Amino acid sequence: MSHSPPTVPSFDHHPRTRIVFGVDSVDRAGELARELGMKRVLLVTDPGVVAAGHAGRVRDVLEKAGVATVLFDKVRENPTTSDVSVCLAAAKEYAIDGIVGLGGGSSMDTAKGCNFLLTNGGRMQDYWGVGKAKLPMLPLIAIPTTAGTGSECQSFALIADEATHQKMACGDPKAAARVALLDPALTISQPPRVAACTGLDAISHALETAVTKKRNALSLAYSREAWRLCQSSFPAVLQNGKDLEARAGMLLGAALAGLAIESSMLGAAHAAANPLTAHFKIVHGQAVGLMLPAVIRFNAADPATAALYDELGEPKSAGLAAKVESFLNLAGMPRSLGDCGVEESAIPALAAEAARQWTAGFNPRLITERDFARLFEAALAPRNV
Ligand SMILES: [Zn+2]
Repeated sequence: MSHSPPTVPSFDHHPRTRIVFGVDSVDRAGELARELGMKRVLLVTDPGVVAAGHAGRVRDVLEKAGVATVLFDKVRENPTTSDVSVCLAAAKEYAIDGIVGLGGGSSMDTAKGCNFLLTNGGRMQDYWGVGKAKLPMLPLIAIPTTAGTGSECQSFALIADEATHQKMACGDPKAAARVALLDPALTISQPPRVAACTGLDAISHALETAVTKKRNALSLAYSREAWRLCQSSFPAVLQNGKDLEARAGMLLGAALAGLAIESSMLGAAHAAANPLTAHFKIVHGQAVGLMLPAVIRFNAADPATAALYDELGEPKSAGLAAKVESFLNLAGMPRSLGDCGVEESAIPALAAEAARQWTAGFNPRLITERDFARLFEAALAPRNV
């Protein structure tokens, strides 16, 4: 029997990550590690997370359960191929049988990158793309201390090429964490600026995944719930960082947005943000948040995409872009690329690079280098809310 071209997008969603959520759920790390057969793990984190006391707590919980724990605390923001090499050397020194990633997206990315090379050999460039790892990887437990990337719920490691600054998305189902341990109490320690930047990233993930070409019925459910949680929790977190309920909303929202990315990928705001981070050192969440209103307005010229934005509960997509702008203002973010040190003369190079980003191809409306130049111009002198 023949069918007409499908108007209902099909999908094949295989959940790979067990999600354990709850205040003080971090105390289950030892038991969960044992269930995965871990006896000797590398705890991958950064110095800030160690200073906040989280690494010590996780190490204690693991060791109490009989899991020997080696601390690697040299994770840096936006990890590069050489950062992964340093982590790999530490992993090779001890005969580990599991990895625990603790911290923000950079800790997860470094942990995943290390896992690729430790188990499959070669260099990160070999895994740029999807599904390039042939051998099984070590079990990974991801414990986020920020609510942003959603890396704990997806199979991608974002590693920058040390030489070219090119951000490589290295994805493989085997790289996904076996357990995402979501403890809202751990995210209380985020400094306000980190909470603002990572929160804007989560919001951008929710809004970009809700409209991409690759979205499907299930990813849409994740995107919409992520947006619902983040839009109500973000202002509350900015107002009172100790608001545990709001922190919980952001952490769950960020994780659900991460699940949405797994199917939907991302869009033009991420494509535009990557060169801004690479060349002007603008923090990822800030760069994406800054570009997002212009991207929403650009995409909303396509009626089908505008309808999807409208379904997110804002009165018309203009309201959605304005809402993101109000979040940027609340977070005290600069509203102009000019305030971030970007000059007009940089726009042609930025636009060319943005158009080459992988995520640009998933944007719901076809977007060219020239369109990106217009978006950057709009972000250079944005309207005020
Ligand atoms: Zn992002």
